[in-house]
Amino acid sequence: MKHIYNYSLEELTDYFKSIQQKPFRAKQVFQWLYQKMVFDFQDMSNVSKDLREQLTQEMKIDVFEIKEKQVSVDGTAKYLFKLEDGHLIETVLMKHDYGQSLCVTSQVGCNMKCSFCASGLLRKQRNLTAGEMVNQVMAVARDSQIRISHVVIMGTGEPFDNYDEVMKFVRIINHPHGLAIGARHITISTCGLVPMIERYSHEGPQTNLAISLHAPNDDIRNQLMPVNKVYNMDVLRESIKKYIEVTNRRVTFEYILLNGINDSLSCARQLAHYVRGLNVYINLIPYNSVDEHGYQASQHVEEFKDELLRLKINCTVRKEHGRDIDGACGQLRAKRSGVI
Ligand code: SAH
Repeated sequence: MKHIYNYSLEELTDYFKSIQQKPFRAKQVFQWLYQKMVFDFQDMSNVSKDLREQLTQEMKIDVFEIKEKQVSVDGTAKYLFKLEDGHLIETVLMKHDYGQSLCVTSQVGCNMKCSFCASGLLRKQRNLTAGEMVNQVMAVARDSQIRISHVVIMGTGEPFDNYDEVMKFVRIINHPHGLAIGARHITISTCGLVPMIERYSHEGPQTNLAISLHAPNDDIRNQLMPVNKVYNMDVLRESIKKYIEVTNRRVTFEYILLNGINDSLSCARQLAHYVRGLNVYINLIPYNSVDEHGYQASQHVEEFKDELLRLKINCTVRKEHGRDIDGACGQLRAKRSGVI
């Protein structure tokens, strides 16, 4: 059986041609799936009965089963889904004044080994397919009865370590005949895999790009993020500079504030120096503590922010969501898998 969420419109069109169906049928089916949010081929009333039968025989609209759902007092909903092969993944729906954003997982586990992150407590088992990422959007949309306006690829996993499937996912949810989530409403977050940043600058559609920086210098970044030993901060800066030149888009730096590690005023000044001259914006993230890692949230978030603002660096503090529901990335899954 084929998973229909794994098909781009172009692939579905080719498939329809291969079964001697008119290509425009693919567009109709795509619209049923994503615009009318239908979950059974039999409900696609303008599709011929024969084709509906054939699709039912050959393809699945297998929306994930919700294994567990936690809802926070602020409306954040955290979903635990079980994949076909039994792996568990997390997806988080956050409510904002501009709409809702869905934090999508791109891999089962993660190999980047960032020392503060709960996701890395479980090594990468495998990449998710594009269809499994689309499925997260559809399963949450169905459960919550809302249209998801924004997607951030910031759940478990390193999206640029699963490049092709993530790109396909972006194209499927961006397609005007499908969910039509605008490229400016989609954010890919990477720990800084430089060759992929370069490759991504030539890719379409151009979504927002966020870089997990978390440190103002190589000494601190090496401790927090092993990826820095491969692509250090100079190399990373150079690749971002080029990316901005090619795409003409502003990049976001994410910076988690960890008590006594990277939150001093001197760190703020080094950070300001690092970003000076780049069209970037800094998102300061209050740390969501993960007991196993021993880091604490900074007590100096406001001072750090004020120092950056004083130095004329664009920055904001990210609003926290779902503190009361195992909010930190990957925590629910790690708990249910018996790791923490
Ligand atoms: N691998 C990608 C995307 C997944 S992590 C990346 O590194 O960007 C998404 C964001 O959440 C990253 O900025 C990550 O550093 C941050 N993050 C991880 N653990 C966190 C925690 N416990 N509290 C706050 N942010 C965290």
